[in-house]
Amino acid sequence: MKLARRMAQLGTETAFEVLARANGLKAAGRSIINLGIGQPDFQTPENIVEAARKALADGHHGYTPANGIQPLREAVAADIAAHRGVEIDPGNVVVVPGGKVTMFFAALMFGEEGAEILYPNPGFPIYQSVIEFSGATAVPIPLYEETGFSFSAEEVLSKITPKTRLIMLNSPANPTGGVTPKKEFDRLVEGLEAHPDIAIMSDEIYARLLYDGQEHVSLLSYPSIRDRVILLDGWSKTYAMTGWRIGYGVWPGKLAEQATRLAVNSNSCVNAPTQIAAIEALQGPQDSVETMRLAFDERRKIILRELNQIEGFRCVEPQGAFYAMSNIEGTGMSARELQDGLLETAGVATIAGTSFGQYGEGYLRFSYAASTEEIIEAMTRIKTFLAERS
Ligand code: PLP
Repeated sequence: MKLARRMAQLGTETAFEVLARANGLKAAGRSIINLGIGQPDFQTPENIVEAARKALADGHHGYTPANGIQPLREAVAADIAAHRGVEIDPGNVVVVPGGKVTMFFAALMFGEEGAEILYPNPGFPIYQSVIEFSGATAVPIPLYEETGFSFSAEEVLSKITPKTRLIMLNSPANPTGGVTPKKEFDRLVEGLEAHPDIAIMSDEIYARLLYDGQEHVSLLSYPSIRDRVILLDGWSKTYAMTGWRIGYGVWPGKLAEQATRLAVNSNSCVNAPTQIAAIEALQGPQDSVETMRLAFDERRKIILRELNQIEGFRCVEPQGAFYAMSNIEGTGMSARELQDGLLETAGVATIAGTSFGQYGEGYLRFSYAASTEEIIEAMTRIKTFLAERS
């Protein structure tokens, strides 16, 4: 068999591989603490589950419009008005099976040989993967520990060339928990005004997971670039719905039609009961969202304190999402060596920073979507592992 060349360009998400290895070790009787995969350890709130149950019982078993049912797209528009202060037309919303799909569609829409697409590094690994799959050149925007892993507008703008078609950005960010300050967004938008042909995909899937009273900054809220911002968001992280597979893109102008066409050609639509449950998520009580956020905040403080007590580790304060990206250079081990050693010997699943791009060497990502007991036990195991090595 001869596969298409582009298949060799497709990357992966190591978190899923680590999850499989961790589950394999667990099945073999080992005690494993999973700080690897980025998903809330909570159940989806019961009102949402009940809405899906009822939808199934009521006979919502068929195809829906490819871009999502109208009441859901209206609910998304209302949610964006409430949380981002921006009025959008529900016609610009395209509902897809997970946040990931919007980034795949954006890469397919803008990427081809000769084109360049900018993306954060260390960043969500699928950005680089789908850009390269599209044939485009993936141009990294390096993120640094010194600035809390926020992006610098100057650095982003400096990477723009006549070949740049699309810029992917993410705040609050995976894998770092970094949040870019508003003044940096302001500067970036000002600079982008000189490049009217470049589209921007803003991955805001962690918008509701911010700490210390911070306000979310949405790129959709800047009128001067509104006509070329693609907003990526979804339900996975906010409502603990990772396995339901639903997310959305807000596409400017005619791009919504193009995204819908990509949906028709791939997934057809998201299953109907999940779409109905997603309406309940947005319109029903929001107290569970806040309960989960407060739990993450408490764990954030604990893991930060603990990580900074481990010899060889140093961690800047994550300000959003549920990840801590610790510098591990002081251990003398590479990120991959430490990831593997911790999993195999200490039974602690983490993800090597290099899984998020070359600028992730020297770092390990911890997902603190785990109980405080598990986090504390994991930190004890890491200390023992390092002590036994030295
Ligand atoms: N964007 C970022 C930054 C993420 O971290 C993730 C998931 O980890 C996604 C998008 C994809 O979310 P979903 O599971 O809804 O596809």
